[in-house]
Amino acid sequence: MRGTYDAARIAKMLAGRLAVIPPLEVRFWAKVNKNGPVFGDLGPCWLWTAAKNNKGYGNFGKVVNGKTVMLCAHRVAWELSGRELPNKRRDGLVLDHICRTPLCVNPDHLRVVTQAANCTVLAIGAPAGINALKTECKRGHPLSGENLARILVRNGPKTAWRPTRVCLTCWPSNANHKRRFYLMEDGPFRATA
Ligand SMILES: [Zn+2]
Ligand SMILES: [Zn+2]
Repeated sequence: MRGTYDAARIAKMLAGRLAVIPPLEVRFWAKVNKNGPVFGDLGPCWLWTAAKNNKGYGNFGKVVNGKTVMLCAHRVAWELSGRELPNKRRDGLVLDHICRTPLCVNPDHLRVVTQAANCTVLAIGAPAGINALKTECKRGHPLSGENLARILVRNGPKTAWRPTRVCLTCWPSNANHKRRFYLMEDGPFRATA
């Protein structure tokens, strides 16, 4: 009888099939909790909730030529956001977590750095995207150009890193100087413990 394969029935069949093999993106984002801790102006960490590898990164299995390969979840997220993946072997560049949270897959919390910078962890900066609203420090010096440094600070070894900007005229005589901090690459300061 005609009508056996009507639109509703076909839709139902397709829905059933999609539920069995969801597209990669659906399968990926289903494992992500987008309500992680908020990291400054960059918004919340998107935390990977499935398996992780021995380096603490999220693990995501993708079938390539019939074989399942395990990929770093944050790299998959970077690619899904339409950005080009760095290649360590080809150009010595790697993805770095600005938020220092290996399980985070929020592409806005990632940046491309040289492998050397990522390994030393001495030079971690907030990205250019963090533009706090202030254009001057408390004492009226410009928070721009050579007088501006972008740094990460935390109040103690167990609290989260937070991006902030400092005035280099006031630094290090301002109240921040006792806190542990890291400056961005090529900055005038080195990490202090
Ligand atoms: Zn994050
Ligand atoms: Zn100042």
